[in-house]
Amino acid sequence: MMWFSSDNAGPAAPEIMDAMVKANGMYSAAYGADPIMDRVRDRIRDLFEAPEAAVYLVATGTAANSLALATLVQPWQTVYCHRNAHIEEDECAAPEFYTGGAKLTLLDGKDAKITPSSLQHAIDFTGRAGVHNVQKGALSITNTTENGTVYTLDEIRALTSIARAAEIPVHLDGARFTNALVSLGCTPAEMTWKSGIDVVSFGGTKNGLVGVEAVILFDPARAWEFELRRKRGGHLFSKHRYLSAQMEAYLTNDLWLDMARKANAMAARLSAGILALPEARLDHPTEANIVFASWPRKGHKAAQEAGAHYYFWPFDQSLDGPDDELLSARLVCNWSTTEAEVDNFLKTIAG
Ligand SMILES: *Cc1c(COP(=O)(O)O)cnc(C)c1O
Repeated sequence: MMWFSSDNAGPAAPEIMDAMVKANGMYSAAYGADPIMDRVRDRIRDLFEAPEAAVYLVATGTAANSLALATLVQPWQTVYCHRNAHIEEDECAAPEFYTGGAKLTLLDGKDAKITPSSLQHAIDFTGRAGVHNVQKGALSITNTTENGTVYTLDEIRALTSIARAAEIPVHLDGARFTNALVSLGCTPAEMTWKSGIDVVSFGGTKNGLVGVEAVILFDPARAWEFELRRKRGGHLFSKHRYLSAQMEAYLTNDLWLDMARKANAMAARLSAGILALPEARLDHPTEANIVFASWPRKGHKAAQEAGAHYYFWPFDQSLDGPDDELLSARLVCNWSTTEAEVDNFLKTIAG
């Protein structure tokens, strides 16, 4: 078994399945009024040191991001994001749809991290012709980034202070929130509101849930609008307790932290093993659970013949061509990835 195509290819944790089975053994109020959700809300407020925060659950990251952004911006405003952001490349214009047509302004920076100068430049440029332009709306950053790198707290603060000066709110796409958190070794509060983040998409699915993401709004004044948008957008679950149960188990006994630590450790092992091969290189630093690396085509052929699953990154590379030419790939580890799986893959690509 060599599955590195996505964290989503991995299974949900047994603790999560058990919690869903347990939730199935009872009647409960619907639409988020279940007692498990009350405990989840308290737990998240506690973990984030944010007693006032509004907390909601949805089933996909696309819904979390799009509903969060819709709550932050008007249709005639723009969301600043990296040009490789998931909201730009992988959400089929759901953010534009849910916001009622707000624009995305794409920013640069290596390893999928926005540079402060590109953000400042874009903000300075926005709205210069008045009514003819979109207006400043929000900043959206992703941590862990789409390139498997992690913004440090200083890097986050450099961006959020620019947003603060421009009087726009900041959204964090945390589909891999916990992988970044354990990589930084900081608290959830430090990675978010203490560093200027207003709204978080707090991912669970990629880190061992069946399908739950929380949206955390640190300003409760935004809560009612979010609730209305979630319902109107078809993401208020009637049998909500199954979502609550997953999130509760996730945040119990450090399961969320343990799973992210395991995934990150396997990526570090994979990354070090690839670097040790002659003729191989990393394309981005490995700072969480994703490895971007290049190695000779013959190693890719061997991997594919052995049934390994992963993506060429970018997609448009071919197995046909000279054996020694380097091809680039993305390899994603999850909580269930084993050392044997990693070592077997390394042996296979080494030929
Ligand atoms: C996977 C992912 C999401 C969520 O995707 P869904 O398929 O909608 O659950 C959001 N942001 C990032 C950076 C992701 O990698």
